[in-house]
Amino acid sequence: VLRMEAVRKTFGDSVVLRDVDLEVAPHTVTALIGASGSGKSTLLRCANLLEDIDDGAIWLDGEEITDPRTDPDAVRRRIGVVFQAYNLFPHMTVLENITLAPRRVHGVARAEAEEHARGLLERLGLGGKAGAYPDRLSGGQQQRVAIVRALAVRPRLLLFDEITAALDPELVGEVLDVVRDLKGDGMTMVLATHEMGFAREVADQVCFLDGGVVLEHGTPEQVFGDPRQERTRRFLRRIV
Ligand code: ATP
Ligand code: MG
Repeated sequence: VLRMEAVRKTFGDSVVLRDVDLEVAPHTVTALIGASGSGKSTLLRCANLLEDIDDGAIWLDGEEITDPRTDPDAVRRRIGVVFQAYNLFPHMTVLENITLAPRRVHGVARAEAEEHARGLLERLGLGGKAGAYPDRLSGGQQQRVAIVRALAVRPRLLLFDEITAALDPELVGEVLDVVRDLKGDGMTMVLATHEMGFAREVADQVCFLDGGVVLEHGTPEQVFGDPRQERTRRFLRRIV
């Protein structure tokens, strides 16, 4: 679904991504792990064309999206993104938040967008919340609404950046349950996470970033169970 080849990203003098290769197969979950500042968010932002890359190339479904002739908006329409802070519009109800992009960007009729949204809300355990405003919801519920909003445009790929980082510990589980369910449905996902236990359980592929380099990647068993690099070992020792 997604492929990155020799991606390089700099901010001024600092190289934030260096020769990053990444391959995300359909219906798989990729976990990006690594210390703060290692480049996880930047990688996700490059994949969604929120950042221009300095070198290398990125493909989505076989199309080179870093080709200058690509329309970035068309690419973003195929990718759902959820960040740490849920970024729901406070003056809109849950249903309005979710149906905004399908209606405005994808030209879906209101009735159809709302029906789809209600179905997704139901599935994520938010059936009663369609008419609520975001400030009436718990952090976990808001984050689940943000996930519904990302799903509402029927994306090919979901990018999740630390979606549980801002949540109280007791609310983390309900959001991770949603990710498990989506995996069960065969969604393709790339997630930056500090939840190592979860990454180990849910990911098909784990990539360890260190100073903008994918130092090591493989199955969770390989990366967590038998890391090849001393730096990975040290990182995991510090975290776990
Ligand atoms: P965290 O775990 O804290 O979220 P991260 O792995 O997501 O960290 P990034 O946010 O991708 O790390 O940042 C990687 C590096 O790029 C950091 O050194 C950061 O300071 C730098 N960086 C990120 N965005 C910018 C920007 N817009 N301008 C300049 N430097 C930036
Ligand atoms: Mg980050």
